[in-house]
Amino acid sequence: MIRFNVPPLIGGEKKYLEQVLANRKFCGDGDFTRRCQNLIEQKFGTKRALLTTSCTHALEMAGLLCDFQPREEVIMPSFTFVSTANAFALHAASPVFIDIRPETMNLDERLIEDAVTPRTRAIVCMHYAGVACRMDRIMEIAGRHGLAVIEDAAQGVMAQWNGRFHGTIGHIGCYSFHETKNYTSGEGGALLINDEKFRERAEIIREKGTNRSRFLRGEVDKYTWVDLGSSYLPSELNAAFLLAQLEQAETLNSDRLASWQRYFTGLKPLEDAGKISLPFIPDCCVHNAHMFYIKTADLAERTALTEHLKQNGVQAVFHYVPLHSSVAGMKYGRFHGTDRYTTRESERLLRLPLYYGMTPEDCDAVIEAVTRFYRH
Ligand SMILES: *Cc1c(COP(=O)(O)O)cnc(C)c1O
Repeated sequence: MIRFNVPPLIGGEKKYLEQVLANRKFCGDGDFTRRCQNLIEQKFGTKRALLTTSCTHALEMAGLLCDFQPREEVIMPSFTFVSTANAFALHAASPVFIDIRPETMNLDERLIEDAVTPRTRAIVCMHYAGVACRMDRIMEIAGRHGLAVIEDAAQGVMAQWNGRFHGTIGHIGCYSFHETKNYTSGEGGALLINDEKFRERAEIIREKGTNRSRFLRGEVDKYTWVDLGSSYLPSELNAAFLLAQLEQAETLNSDRLASWQRYFTGLKPLEDAGKISLPFIPDCCVHNAHMFYIKTADLAERTALTEHLKQNGVQAVFHYVPLHSSVAGMKYGRFHGTDRYTTRESERLLRLPLYYGMTPEDCDAVIEAVTRFYRH
């Protein structure tokens, strides 16, 4: 069976974990956490990076940082992961879902302005498959209406838009280091603060609502409860594991890109024959091979292809059920405008196996199996 995902192991993880055991310092914000945060700040270019226990928690922190009042609104795509919306609904905001662009599956920035109301406070853009949204337009619209821009860059670590890394362009960025993502600590994430005004409060929120970070820096002589917060910091064990992968991000990235390119070249004849659609990468984007998906004619064809691939030892999986048609999405949010593409395109999309260390032979076997399906 060619599995859909095999979590990456790059080799340096064990050495760093042994150092944590030897240091006898397991809780958060130790040496390895600091090294991960410094690496993210320097490599990607953000004012402040804070490791979190997940991207979901980074998004929740963003929800707290925006200080939503009940029924204030946040604009986002419906084609996204649950956490994108749940994190904000949890903090009193109402998600307003808009349609996507079919060629990238990202929110259609041309529909944002029509969804803005006096209650709108923020836009959450999610860069699907590590391919960026139109950040120039989004930042321009946000500036005009005084909205915060939060990037759900869970899938976008190492990917770029116009020479800038995902997560560093909006006011706040969120990364995921879940084992299904390109770089992992099993469970993990990071909050990227690109607007200085959120910095101090982000540290407080992450430390249970206390000013412990300032205390550790010697800026205050005792620490105390100063605001709302929770415990969003990962242990040193997670940070050590993650550091090994972030330090070798280029190796992981180029390996994934090679598989992605092999799929693209191998499946191009099927696209040229009008059988399937392949991912589209706009000129201003450098993607990170987070995912390789194809689009079939419709849901029935996708179901048949999924079954055919399973029979041929290939695990292929579909993706999000649009949030506006989910139980909680209907309860806490609403769809603005017309669902021209969200449902239709999500029903066509099928993700193929892609992971660090995937062999060219496995890639070719998947291409072969897909091609055989369309020969009949
Ligand atoms: C994976 C993912 C998340 C959640 O990440 P966790 O680290 O598992 O909380 C959020 N948003 C998107 C778009 C994702 O792909």
